[in-house]
Amino acid sequence: MTDATDRNKIPKASLEGAKTETLAVRAGQIRSPELEHSEAIFPTSSFVFSSAQQAAARFAGDEPGNIYSRFTNPTVKMFEDRIAAMEGAERGVATSSGMAAILSTCLGLLQNGDHIVSSRSVFGTTNVLFEKYLSRAGITTTFVDLVDVDGWKNAVQSNTKLFFLETPSNPLAEIADIAKLADLAHGCDALLVVDNCFCTPILQKPIELGADIVIHSATKYLDGQGRCIGGVAVGKASVMEEVYGFLRSAGTTMSPFNAWVFLKGLETLGIRMRAHSESALKVAQWLTEQPMVEKVFYSGLASHPQHELASKQQSAFGGVVSFTVRGGRAEAWALIDSLKIMSITANLGDAKTTITHPATTTHGRLSDEVKAKSGISENLIRMSVGLEDVQDIIGDLQQGLASIA
Ligand SMILES: *Cc1c(COP(=O)(O)O)cnc(C)c1O
Repeated sequence: MTDATDRNKIPKASLEGAKTETLAVRAGQIRSPELEHSEAIFPTSSFVFSSAQQAAARFAGDEPGNIYSRFTNPTVKMFEDRIAAMEGAERGVATSSGMAAILSTCLGLLQNGDHIVSSRSVFGTTNVLFEKYLSRAGITTTFVDLVDVDGWKNAVQSNTKLFFLETPSNPLAEIADIAKLADLAHGCDALLVVDNCFCTPILQKPIELGADIVIHSATKYLDGQGRCIGGVAVGKASVMEEVYGFLRSAGTTMSPFNAWVFLKGLETLGIRMRAHSESALKVAQWLTEQPMVEKVFYSGLASHPQHELASKQQSAFGGVVSFTVRGGRAEAWALIDSLKIMSITANLGDAKTTITHPATTTHGRLSDEVKAKSGISENLIRMSVGLEDVQDIIGDLQQGLASIA
């Protein structure tokens, strides 16, 4: 007899060998006895047990099942399992933000006396977290040039436990050779952590290239419509168990509602990433031809110094385009203020095109010295190309550039 309880389970085998975009729509779904088609939200703090004995077994870890939503919630689990499947990882741990994913990974896996080698070109807040706060816990960081493999090698110490990078970097679109850096990390018993926020598993699979842990700010493309803050880390089950242990104790937890928004976001991630990438390439190419534009940073341009490596590692180049205008802060701000369609906001990965001045916003907390080293100049502008008609986006930039010429 195939009753409802048989049919409500999607057999694991049916997704075996499925492509990333199929996993994005279907992986990880748990159906309740109501047989809902769309994933359910479970807004409950705790779960009941059938007996005191079952409660004891659940708490002891002898029986799997839900206990308390700080560390077990079915909606959150669906999101964790789906993104883990998409990244080719064994297990995911969802968190309250992208920064919480980075913090939980570091404090779950590192201790006083350990050392991180990190790309200098990471999200501004990641920089602050490592330099100011992890150092207070006795975890030190050496920052290196993302693309200089020898620089990474020279920064390794006997206590190095973790390599951390983003590729393409924000906002200058530099590309790390993930396979090379994974080999280097493993040669000194360190784990390679890749923040895959800009590409998502649709465009790049760091674990296939040798990375141990992949981190996301789900706030960006995974949501895709600028609604919720969230994050996730995925990797081998044994490694993620430590990250989960930290989350269980520290409460860096994702809410079930946010997990549900991200599940819905993942269903359209494939078509969105292709559309963002296609429009961003057109915008980047158009920008290179404008006299008021000094330089364009986009790895999809044949003139990008690492275009070949980007083409090998990624299936497309993503939605973020940065460029410098002729002049300084005054010209950059005037251009931003003249735009009629795009939003002045520091978020990225949204259906709406966004534009920002990194030197005074996302990277404003960095010292002038670090800004100079990282190429965050006063005439630099970062755009996250959205899903509006690309001709309208280009038209907006055209009238803006004309106004400062
Ligand atoms: C936004 C972002 C983060 C931090 O994520 P939050 O969700 O804002 O905490 C980390 N890394 C990258 C690359 C980001 O763009």
